[in-house]
Amino acid sequence: MGLKLHNTFTRTKEEFVPVEKGKVKFYMCGPTVYDYIHIGNARAFIAGDVLRRFMKYIGYDVTYVLNLTDIDDKIIQRSQKEGVSTESITEKFSKAFFEDIDTLGIEKADAYPRATEHVEEIIVLIKRLIGQASAYQVGGDVYYDVSKFANYGKLSGKNIDDLRAGARVAVDEKKRNPHDFALWKNQKPGEPAWESPWGMGRPGWHIECSAMSMKYLGESFDIHAGGQDLIFPHHENEIAQSEGATKQKFVKYWLHNGFLQIEGEKMAKSLGNFRTVREIVKIYPGRVLRLFFLQKHYRSPIDLTDQGLQAAASASARLKIFYDKLNKVLGTIGNIRKEIDPKTLSKSETKFFDSFEKMKSALTEAMSDDLNTPVAISVLFDMVRETNKLLSRDDLTENEKMLLVYSKKNFDDFNSFLGLIDSKEESVDSKMVDALVTLLIELRNELRAKKEWELSDKIRDQLNAMGVVLEDKGRETEWRLK
Ligand code: AMP
Ligand code: ZN
Repeated sequence: MGLKLHNTFTRTKEEFVPVEKGKVKFYMCGPTVYDYIHIGNARAFIAGDVLRRFMKYIGYDVTYVLNLTDIDDKIIQRSQKEGVSTESITEKFSKAFFEDIDTLGIEKADAYPRATEHVEEIIVLIKRLIGQASAYQVGGDVYYDVSKFANYGKLSGKNIDDLRAGARVAVDEKKRNPHDFALWKNQKPGEPAWESPWGMGRPGWHIECSAMSMKYLGESFDIHAGGQDLIFPHHENEIAQSEGATKQKFVKYWLHNGFLQIEGEKMAKSLGNFRTVREIVKIYPGRVLRLFFLQKHYRSPIDLTDQGLQAAASASARLKIFYDKLNKVLGTIGNIRKEIDPKTLSKSETKFFDSFEKMKSALTEAMSDDLNTPVAISVLFDMVRETNKLLSRDDLTENEKMLLVYSKKNFDDFNSFLGLIDSKEESVDSKMVDALVTLLIELRNELRAKKEWELSDKIRDQLNAMGVVLEDKGRETEWRLK
């Protein structure tokens, strides 16, 4: 089954066919570096990371570019408020951004272009648009003339006449049309500025992404992604600018992730309802956040709740305990043959192998279906359950040992794109787990003796959520992994 992706431009799931065979050119709209990123932003970058890794896994040669917006009104406002240079703001928050995405297990992009380093390319693009009468100069400003681009509104499903009728955009005497937007802004006192044919000034936000994406990925490339808030006007304007200049299809597939919400409202800096990544990872490690997001489809909204995060934390602990145990058992097995010969398997071994093979294709199929990570993750947990059955035995046959090697190889493959287990992270020492579970069982038994059912049930239920099952056998309680 080929990879299918939902294209915002056509509003349908489409078979992915790259511009150039075997290659993927992928641009992700990055952060405006005037503050720490919040976990809503993290959702966009995690979704991009998983898609990029999955495409690599299925054999594409992927070039992934994520920009940093380091010229912007918000950056200027913050620098003026704090009485420091814009560079000191953008340097501080770019560094913080790289630290944050690292804690989220996001792989490094192939390039992180910054707007301030691409002013030349931006000016060339604006000149091209003026030369074709798609843009016009008014004093020291340059605007894009949306009436010159027949397809304006195609991505967002808006039409210029409706836009005009309902225009709430502040009337600007300088513009020919209320939806014309700035490509170049005349310098205001105290603002950073660059030389240009139109005088000292700075680029608008949209043109930065057009110029940088085309510089690194070509004038026509495969994927451009970001949150749904970027569909209009940012991506709509990028299409108008890029296709207006090149007369070619700018991007084949437009992908947009749904919002992380708090009480039904989008998490946003401007609404003040945000929680930064660095604040959250103090409580929930990056891998928990990844699992929290990936348990939902990237296009659906997600509500941030403590229960949701806690459930993800338990599931993540369950994966980690499982993975460490698998590694430990494999460590004691030593060298064994690598290839499985299905003809030599017993009935129960064949059952394990066949069901595992089915789960493997179910997982890859789910990922290929517009990145259906919730289904992929539930299959992954089915695999954990199956493998745990073997792990809880201590009389493994040679074939079963081989099946464990095979299971581990598959987990590593799937982890290469889901990134749910951090192999660098300290392993959960199984002796320690044993001691802690035994201690909890003792505490639970004392609580039961005192008829404190609520607390004793809480211990049992929370352990269960982590994959540790308690079984009461007479006066003894035994435990096993789920
Ligand atoms: P910004 O720095 O605001 O341009 O955002 C960086 C990325 O995060 C963009 O792709 C946004 O669309 C995305 N984003 C912002 N807020 C949210 C949210 N609450 N949920 C999901 N994605 C978001
Ligand atoms: Zn952008």
